[in-house]
Amino acid sequence: MDRHHCLVTGANRGLGLEFVRQLLARGDHVIAACRHPGKAQALNVLAGEHPGRLKVLPLELGDPRSHAELAREVALVNDGERLDLLINNAGVLRGGERFGQVALADLDASFHTNAAGPFLLTQALAEQLADGGKVANLSSEVGSIGLRQEFRTPSYAIGKAAQNMATTLLAQALSARGITVVALHPGWVRTDMGGPQAALTPQESVAALLTLLQKAGLEQSGSFLDWQGDPLPW
Ligand code: NDP
Repeated sequence: MDRHHCLVTGANRGLGLEFVRQLLARGDHVIAACRHPGKAQALNVLAGEHPGRLKVLPLELGDPRSHAELAREVALVNDGERLDLLINNAGVLRGGERFGQVALADLDASFHTNAAGPFLLTQALAEQLADGGKVANLSSEVGSIGLRQEFRTPSYAIGKAAQNMATTLLAQALSARGITVVALHPGWVRTDMGGPQAALTPQESVAALLTLLQKAGLEQSGSFLDWQGDPLPW
């Protein structure tokens, strides 16, 4: 079996942690990026169980210096091997927003983490991506302008819509190197963000997304797909 080198952001909990688990289970080498590696208990347990195949590194998505530092570390950790798969998973959703009271701080936080972060991190890691590799940006159907949206979580929706544009531009920028870039809606998933009523477990969502990513090729690059592989309108 081919052992791939993968990097997952927001890897300490939720979907990110499950991506790490499933990538390790299939034999891949994984870099798990999160804000506070020292506090990432589940990841550190996994690192002990998979010596040499899981490295936990710091990443604050809102800080370009952190992107540059991670890019340097990735080069060292992978010892010349490039990344076959980058999963821009980290995201933020601040609830409780009402029209008339939407705050710049919430829009800023969403833009930094949901849109600028994945775009700039991918740019910083571009040299570390293998030709023919793949980049998955965890988006949301809530960021689709083409779907009729209710006025809920506006900062999140605006940030994810901006991320979707970033996905199409990254797909173009990286196409010459055969790198596939896709936006993925993971479904409504039982995590801290999705809440306990959500329809899917992280295991179900991530298993479907990894199967989809395995099949995705350059012809899918620049597209927006849900966890079942169905296209979503931008
Ligand atoms: P969670 O809220 O459970 O986890 C979010 C992760 O992102 C955490 O690891 C968090 O780290 C990290 N993160 C947030 N801000 C930053 C930052 N500035 N720098 C670095 N890391 C950061 O979310 P989910 O696991 O549910 O979601 C994963 C992705 O899937 C997100 O992009 C989300 O928008 C998307 N999604 C999720 C859905 C769902 O139903 N769950 C539905 C649609 C899309 P920390 O622990 O330090 O806060």
